[in-house]
Amino acid sequence: MNHYLLRKRASLYALMALTALLGAAGAGAAPCPPGALGTHRVQVVAPDPAARFGLKSYDKTLPLGEKEVVLTFDDGPLPGPTDAVLAALEKECVRATFFLIGRNAKAAPHLARRIAEAGHTLANHSMTHPWTMRQMDHDAAWRNIMEGQAAIESAAGKRIAPFFRFPGFADTPALLESLAGAGIVVMGTDIWASDWNVMSPERQLRLTMRRLERAGSGIVLFHDTKSQTAAMLPAFLRALAEGGWRVVHIVGP
Ligand SMILES: [Zn+2]
Repeated sequence: MNHYLLRKRASLYALMALTALLGAAGAGAAPCPPGALGTHRVQVVAPDPAARFGLKSYDKTLPLGEKEVVLTFDDGPLPGPTDAVLAALEKECVRATFFLIGRNAKAAPHLARRIAEAGHTLANHSMTHPWTMRQMDHDAAWRNIMEGQAAIESAAGKRIAPFFRFPGFADTPALLESLAGAGIVVMGTDIWASDWNVMSPERQLRLTMRRLERAGSGIVLFHDTKSQTAAMLPAFLRALAEGGWRVVHIVGP
């Protein structure tokens, strides 16, 4: 091989390395600090009429390898805990998915934008988080879902991923059909952190790690509105790094 080709190949490798670095750190973001957990890979989740993921509600989940985890945060944004969650994720260079409530995004649009600017995935968790979607009139429930999406997009200033998580996982066959028709993926979860129960950050860390170890991989559900979750997150991300777990960032097509 002549020198020209060697040089060309060397610059190609340099470009590939740079692209990988930028991909991991995000456009405009600082490079990942050495030793940070980082985001292992990006998984594109395309809409599909049968695309319902999460073993807590459905019979299949995302195609994850051994020790791969998807981090999801529901119910935000909420000034305070959401800020702390974002700081912990940034420190470890980790990308997550936030299922926002439209009403909360409207109340704290700066946080919706911050989540978007940090490169996380924004998704819809309805406008007002009704617990009673199974009892609601279909059209009223559908309106609540669509209003949520519009409010989050307006607050964040960008289109969100076509992912929806039912409040309290209370789906209905008719809403599942409407979501599939609209090209929206229904995202359940595989592992609960059960952070709706009040407990110390230490206890929550032990509980979540135990469930994760038992499952071997999966989508983990947290709430970025809970200060106990925000408090345990730095230790949780360290435990993932030390245990050889790999974070998968899910994105829309
Ligand atoms: Zn919720």
